[in-house]
Amino acid sequence: MEKKTKVFGTASIDYHVNGEIPELLILSGMHGDEIGVDKSVWDAVIKYEQNLPPFLFIPSVSPSATNLKTRINKDGVDINRNFFDDSKIEEARAVMEIVKNLRLNTMINFHEDPEYMDFYFYDGFGINIEGTSTLSALRQGVKQLGIGLLNGVDDPSDKALGYEFINGYRYFSPSSLKKNKYGMFGTWACSKRIINRSIVPEVPGRLPQPMKDRLVRLVFEKLLIS
Ligand SMILES: [Zn+2]
Repeated sequence: MEKKTKVFGTASIDYHVNGEIPELLILSGMHGDEIGVDKSVWDAVIKYEQNLPPFLFIPSVSPSATNLKTRINKDGVDINRNFFDDSKIEEARAVMEIVKNLRLNTMINFHEDPEYMDFYFYDGFGINIEGTSTLSALRQGVKQLGIGLLNGVDDPSDKALGYEFINGYRYFSPSSLKKNKYGMFGTWACSKRIINRSIVPEVPGRLPQPMKDRLVRLVFEKLLIS
């Protein structure tokens, strides 16, 4: 991996590139109160570096949120509601600068859910994998770790969310990609055709760190390594 840095105003974002033309974008560290999963993702990227397709990895999308250990960054905002071309949030602008000329198959953006003990993931704008052996194998692996699969709604209190999951999975068709109303990275990047597919795994934040590590490794193995 080659380490690079993008500066925009006072924001400075480190990223790592493996391969000539990245096909996969790996993100973590959007929210500073989800740092357990950030460590799991770092470890998995290093472990699977040679097995993954060419990739670009941004380990900390919002370094100021990570430093503050809060969901909001130094500007007092959730960065994942501020991905607009004319965003006033310098960290968001730096991240958009890093990826703006790329054409990637898949983006995976790891988060933690502070509340639920069950795993779930959003799968947007690509192909619906419900009923496939890929999804079955992932679900089976999650169960083997002793972790549940969410049947319910994330997050009923957030107007940008409120989606129902069945056995840990929620698919969004390309036609559901209207405009980038809420400034989420995935909808911004898909609307720009920078990415074709947006995967957002939500790792239960209350799991012990070794379980987070195992769950993230499983997601890499089942969804990213073909
Ligand atoms: Zn998050």
